[in-house]
Amino acid sequence: MNTPTNIATIETLQSGPLEEGGWLANKRVFIRVDFNVPLDKSSGAITDDSRIQAALPTIEFAIKAGAKVIVASHLGRPKGKRDDKLSLEVCGARLAELTGLEVHVPEDCIGDAPKKVIHDLRVASPGSQIRGGPQICLLENLRFHPEEKQDDEAFARSLGVLCDVYVNDAFGAMHRAHTSVHALPMLKADRGAGFLVQKELQALSKLVEAPGKPYLAVLGGVKVTDKIEVIEALFGRCDTICIGGAMANTFLAAQGHDMQKSLVEEDKLALARTLIDKARDAGVDLLLPTDVVVGEGLEATSAQTVGVAAVPTGTMALDIGPATIERFAKALSGAKTVFWNGPMGLFESEPFARGTVEVALAMGKASGFTVVGGGDSAAAVRQAGSEVAAAFDHISTGGGASLQFVEGKRLPGIEALRHRTLDDDRR
Ligand code: ADP
Ligand code: MG
Repeated sequence: MNTPTNIATIETLQSGPLEEGGWLANKRVFIRVDFNVPLDKSSGAITDDSRIQAALPTIEFAIKAGAKVIVASHLGRPKGKRDDKLSLEVCGARLAELTGLEVHVPEDCIGDAPKKVIHDLRVASPGSQIRGGPQICLLENLRFHPEEKQDDEAFARSLGVLCDVYVNDAFGAMHRAHTSVHALPMLKADRGAGFLVQKELQALSKLVEAPGKPYLAVLGGVKVTDKIEVIEALFGRCDTICIGGAMANTFLAAQGHDMQKSLVEEDKLALARTLIDKARDAGVDLLLPTDVVVGEGLEATSAQTVGVAAVPTGTMALDIGPATIERFAKALSGAKTVFWNGPMGLFESEPFARGTVEVALAMGKASGFTVVGGGDSAAAVRQAGSEVAAAFDHISTGGGASLQFVEGKRLPGIEALRHRTLDDDRR
């Protein structure tokens, strides 16, 4: 399987430069993963291990190939110094459960401690059963060192001496020019993408390189501010844009509607007007809500559907209404490519979840190529049920990374994996 971006994969690395096969055997393979899992505030236990599960195919592939596997990640925001609450020990224990293998977590990610663990790691003999024998080294939290976030060459070299081959399978971190994502792979001639990153690149590339038309984007969520760049990029690429969620309130207010207590970004009204004009000039069909579901506040337990011109005094628009759902669903049914980011309402609260769930259902039924990106949006799709989630062509594991990719921006982690020659670097 080739990625569309001239990047080697863990499988091409395994076949080796001479295609002799089994090339990863006994090599020290550094796998950058995203084990930045949510932890329970009081017990410190992992509340959702899907990020660990997502990295298993790549880790198990390297183990089966007989490699010495070194797994590395950041967890939380330890501010550049050791914080026992953010130790990767808890992820190591879960990784051991999931793989049935022994996992060693040295006390630091660089220096003598990991060097010794890696030196002593037992590997699988290729082709044999992987349960029991081989061991994994999971490095301690990369962000215990401030240099991780500084794309620091010296820190990259300290990590680099631990490994022969670099594999990135942390799609959620690809948009950050951090040492383990950017400086480190640039030091390694043998570098490539893991299975998760490959899957992400294959799906998301279809949104950027010649997407099937009509291309429809559904945008929602809280803030216009966070997403201005992706909104502007999509206004230049899509045929239809549906806007819901709190984001729609700013657009509706820009059109002169009194949104009462709804979340509206007053300082973005002018921008919203510019985008409305831009859509009209570019012939983009911009669909805003015609009706909304209102409540008295974020804690409201009762809901009322009203037209956007008649939001009652003292209420907030917390979801899109049924007429809007129908309009969005109709647009979705004719689209060839669909990208969705941002829930249509306060979906965490039952009375205001319907817009998001119905849009997810409509997207699941749509015959076009459907992709959802964004942490809360992906959670909303999963909340709508496993059947709905399965009907999507791709649910991205990267929030910020998927948005930047869809904007057409280059991601530092991807650039660092590309094959370059000296001449490329001189250009
Ligand atoms: P993502 O993580 O998918 O990028 P965002 O973080 O931008 O999405 O937005 C998700 C949040 O937006 C959710 O917590 C949801 O409750 C909230 N939200 C959506 N619509 C509204 C609304 N009309 N009023 C208040 N909050 C909203
Ligand atoms: Mg979010």
